[in-house]
This record gives sequence, C-alpha cells and structure tokens, in this order.
Amino acid sequence: MTRIDPHSWADSDQPRTRSLDLALEVDFDRRRIAGEATLELRGPSDGALDLDTRALRVHEATTEGGASVPFQVGDEDAVLGQRLRLELPGGTRRLRIRYETPPEAVGLQWLEPNQTEGKRHPFLFTQFQPIHARSVIPLQDTPRFRVTYRAAITLPEGLAAVMSAGPAGERPGPRPGARTFLFEMPQPIPPYLLALAVGALASRDLSPRSRVWAEPATVEAAAWEFAGVEQMIATAEGLFGPYDWDRYDMLVLPPSFPYGGMENPRMTFLTPTLLAGDRSLVDVVAHELAHSWTGNLVTNATMDHFWLNEGATVWAERRILEALHGPEAAALSWAIGEQALEIELLRFGADSPWTRLRTDLQGTHPDDVYSSIPYEKGSRFLALAERTLGREGFDRFVREYIARFRFTSITTEEFLAFLEERLPGLARQVGADAWLYEPGMPANAPVFRSPALEALTALAEAFPAGARPTPEQVERWSPSETLVYLQHLPRHLDEAACRWLDLSLKLTARGNYEILVEWLTIAAGSDYAPVFPRLREVLLRVGRMKYLRPLYGALGRHPRTRALAREVYAAAAPGYHALSRRTAESVMAEYAE
Ligand SMILES: [Zn+2]
Repeated sequence: MTRIDPHSWADSDQPRTRSLDLALEVDFDRRRIAGEATLELRGPSDGALDLDTRALRVHEATTEGGASVPFQVGDEDAVLGQRLRLELPGGTRRLRIRYETPPEAVGLQWLEPNQTEGKRHPFLFTQFQPIHARSVIPLQDTPRFRVTYRAAITLPEGLAAVMSAGPAGERPGPRPGARTFLFEMPQPIPPYLLALAVGALASRDLSPRSRVWAEPATVEAAAWEFAGVEQMIATAEGLFGPYDWDRYDMLVLPPSFPYGGMENPRMTFLTPTLLAGDRSLVDVVAHELAHSWTGNLVTNATMDHFWLNEGATVWAERRILEALHGPEAAALSWAIGEQALEIELLRFGADSPWTRLRTDLQGTHPDDVYSSIPYEKGSRFLALAERTLGREGFDRFVREYIARFRFTSITTEEFLAFLEERLPGLARQVGADAWLYEPGMPANAPVFRSPALEALTALAEAFPAGARPTPEQVERWSPSETLVYLQHLPRHLDEAACRWLDLSLKLTARGNYEILVEWLTIAAGSDYAPVFPRLREVLLRVGRMKYLRPLYGALGRHPRTRALAREVYAAAAPGYHALSRRTAESVMAEYAE
C-alpha cells in the first residue's frame, strides 16, 4: 500500500473516485444529515478500497447492481478519523453507501434560530477545510484526488440550500413539507471545497455573474458592502487569466462562522464581521476571489504544502488591492500582515518547525498548528521572487504556472521544479531552500514601506513619550491607517491613555471589527473596565477565530480579566463552532492560574 497524504487513508494503489452523487436529507430536529453517497470510480475495480470517515454511522454499502459490499470501520485515530475499508466485487464502477452523520459531526455547525439574525429559522453550514469532509461524507478526503459532484439535498419547506456548485433546479421533496434542491459541480475539486449551507436565505444580483446570499435581515447591507465585486473579478482576470468557475457568488453566514472567509468555489462563504458599512474590509473578498486561481485551480497536494494555497493567495490578494487602490493601500495591507506574522513567530518560537513553509504534519492535526505563517511568510517569499526578477517577468511566470497546473494538486517540490524550468537560477538567487525548509524568517525578507506607513508607526511608537495625533489627523485616517496606528501602540496602557484613545478615536462604538477588536485587545490587556460590556457582547456574538485568539489572549493578563474571560466563555461556548471552542480553550489553557 502507498499512502499519499499524511491526513488520509487514501491509497494510491487502490481505485480512485472520479465523481460523487449525493442524495441527502437535512434533519434539524435530530441534527443529522442522512442518505446516500454514490462514488463513481475511474474504471471497473475490485478489491480493497479505503475511505476516510469520522464518527459516521455507515448502514449499508452496495454496488450499482445492488450487490452487497462487505465493509469494516476501523478504530478511531485522533488525527485521521476512522478508515472505512470496503471489499469491492470484481467490475465495480459505482458504489453506494447509505449512512448518517452524528449530531457532533465536526464539519457541520447547526444553529438554533436565536443564533441567526432573523431569529425565526435554524441554519446549517459546513466547513470542510482542512480535513473535515470525512465527518459528513465517506470519501477519499485528500486534495490529491479531485472529484466532480452532483447533489440532491432535501430540506424542510421554507428553507433554501446553496452549495459550492451550480444550481440545477428544485422539486417537491419525497413527502409533504419537504423540498429538494439540486446541484451540479462539473469542475473537479479537492474534497475540502465541497460546501453546503441551509437557512432562510435571500439573494441580490451584483453583476451578471455574481450574486450575494444572506439572511433577509442582512442581504441589503451585504449587497451594498460587496457592490464592487465585478470590478474585482475583472481586475483579477487581468492579472491571473480568465475566471474558470462560471459564477462568483458569495454567502454571508451568521456570526459564529469561524473564519473570515472560505473560498468554496462558486460560493465563497464570508463572516458578517466584514459588513463594516464602509466597504473597508473587502480585502477578505479579494482574498477569497484570488483563491479561484491559487488554491482552487492550483491546489496544495496535502496540508504540508498549504503555503502554496495561502501564500500565493495573500500575494495575489495584495496585487488585486494595489491594482484597485494603489501602492499605498497595498503597503498598508502588507504592514497589517506583518504584525500578524510577528505575533505568530512569537507564539510558536522562531525555530519551531511550524514556521517552515513546507511542513511535516505526519501525526499532527492541521487545525492544531493553523496560523498566519503560511499566509504571510509564503506571500513574502513570492514578493521577494517578484522583486528579484521584476514584476513583468514574474507575472508572466504566475500566469504560466496557473495555466500549467490548473485543476491539479501539486507539492512544493513540483512548484520548485517548475520555477527552475521557467526561471532557472531564481530559486537559488532568493534562497528558496531557506524560505521553504528552514524555520523563522530569512534575512532577505522583503520590507514594505511607504511615507504614510512610516509616519503612522512613528507616531504610535512615540505614544508612551506623549505624542498624540491631532483631531484633524484622526479624521483623515482611512480604516486601514487607524488599524496600523493601533497595531503599533503598546499592548498595555494606563487608564488615562485608554480613556484618551477611546474618546479621540471613538473606538468602542466602531462597527469595523478589525479596528474594534484591535482596540478591545489593547483595552483588555490594560484591564480597562469601561470596555468590558462591549467585550462581552463581541465574544458572545462572534466566533471568528482571528478575533477570539487575541481577545481571550489579552484577557489572560490580569486576575480580573481572566475571571471575565472564563465567565464569558462559559456563556459563549455553546454558540461557538467546534473550531472556535478549540481555539479559545487552547488560549485559556495558557492562563496563569
Ligand atoms: Zn485563504
């Protein structure tokens, strides 16, 4: 046997799945998805087939002709889940598995009506990256094996479903009170890009090929915030080549969604914390859109090569921002990312193996070491290559890379080989081996500077010595400039300084979550009690891990704020996604007592 991915039981000596046909029913009362997954293999097959599952209840497996297929569910492995071994009779082309999910399936979050904006209907969404598809569908859960899919999803009447696929109609369900939504995904995708969301949903068209979905209470705000998406798509096409996925639709989820966005093809999932009311946080949309090329079209072969997805996408996202808003805006974005990178290098330690770009995750769950490193270090590696070679030549290389590897999944080593083939010597010139295989940041990391950035950081760094921005300066700052200023302030301020900041920059009342959370992190670390009600409100409402980590972290510094964190967490945890609980708990495990 030959295992091809440290996070999958998939075996390259066994048959491969070509496509999936899902016939599933969503049962909110029992918090269960039940039905059938039919796997179409690449050719007539026989013998052992190992699939990935996690806590699935498998009832029956049959061939297309109805012959029973013997199967065995292996022991639980904490990282991999359970191996489902099937013994295929000779000539098997299609394999049907009848099964159901347990209520605690980690790839699903079931929301009660009171956890939604509308408060009247329940909501369900999936999050399959990195290795959670197996908790909802029995399959070969490795990005190395791409699949197309079709789905028939049955729901209670009055709710709607969207998927990372094209809609293919709807019909009455198998019984009164149920309705079935049909989907078809003709382009092969890695299984982590399968996605489903169910709820009371409304939509608004943004352009002939883009639409935003959200709860009815949020959809107008979402349509306003993301109105510029068509210009963004056209800009990205100018940089990276044609958009290959037909439509670019977006879904704004309830606030417990654990990420900023998830690049599910044809249906990006987004956190509602992007709805700042000033279009200032659409860089996340630029990021998810850029994944349409880097990540979804050219995919990391396994999570050991995650930087190929995320580093390339952050680099691409900032090129889109630069094309749309100019070099100053891009420099601010690089500076904001640099702060995140420095925090993560401190968290892991600069000689930690988790600060390498090419990782070795054998025996490690990717969620346990998720960080900004592949994003920010990876994008800096590509920016260095771009600077060294020159923009025109590097852009040509990127377009060739995408055209060469589209709809495939590749390793770091395949990337390097292609780089050497097209641009001989560049890898050596930039010290690619140190970037990819060594921990920490290489000394030749590119530096991003601009006059506005220099002025802001100098002003913030002089804060302890008494320097303050004037009201006119504060008034002129863009949201990104305000954020950069806050990021460069000390993490602990006295009460008078906190009060001055809050009054002068009107921070506690902000609707822009990037600014609000940066401020609350400083205020929590400073034990500044006037913000506690707002802090409580944010932690109870929002499950985005990017915010939970610094907030719960800063609350750990003082006895009073530690007590507050524990009290708020106890109330908030039932509404958090499993991934968000894991993040908050890992941060609180480091508390002093
Ligand atoms: Zn990403």
